[in-house]
Amino acid sequence: MYKVTLEELKQLALKAKNDLWALARANDRDVKVYLHWSAGHYGQFFSDYHINIDKDGSVYMSTNDLATVLAHTWRRNSGAIGVSLAACYDATTQNWGPEPPTVAQIEAMAQVVCVLANALDLTIDYDRVMTHAEAANEDGYGPQQTWERWDLWILPGVSLGEGGNIIRGKANWYRQNGVT
Ligand SMILES: [Zn+2]
Repeated sequence: MYKVTLEELKQLALKAKNDLWALARANDRDVKVYLHWSAGHYGQFFSDYHINIDKDGSVYMSTNDLATVLAHTWRRNSGAIGVSLAACYDATTQNWGPEPPTVAQIEAMAQVVCVLANALDLTIDYDRVMTHAEAANEDGYGPQQTWERWDLWILPGVSLGEGGNIIRGKANWYRQNGVT
């Protein structure tokens, strides 16, 4: 794992752009960004995700090739980037537990989405930037079915089911305001 700036992340995304689109097109889809939480501890990073975001919003890479196919989102990994918040150990829908997503993490995730979408020519919408909860709902194992995966289905202070809309909304705000 190594820490990167948003500018360094942009360069990595540009470098992987052609490979990502080739993989996505081979699967008859656009490049996608999937948003997770780890259900682990702050400061604990996993190589299943390309990008891990720590408690303070700092961004860590598990690989220098964003086109590498990792195992983050069932049946959706080719031509897709996995981004995860290092958070949510012991979290349930009733109780966030000791390590909830922080404000800094959520803002950093929105900035990461903006950087990736700009570099990869992606519209920031439900079809291209999806939480694991939303992807799991599409594939029958999400909070609308079994709750096997519910990453970002909720966020602190946010209504059930709205986590994805919040992150996408913030990412589009960063895009429109040219912050990243
Ligand atoms: Zn997940």
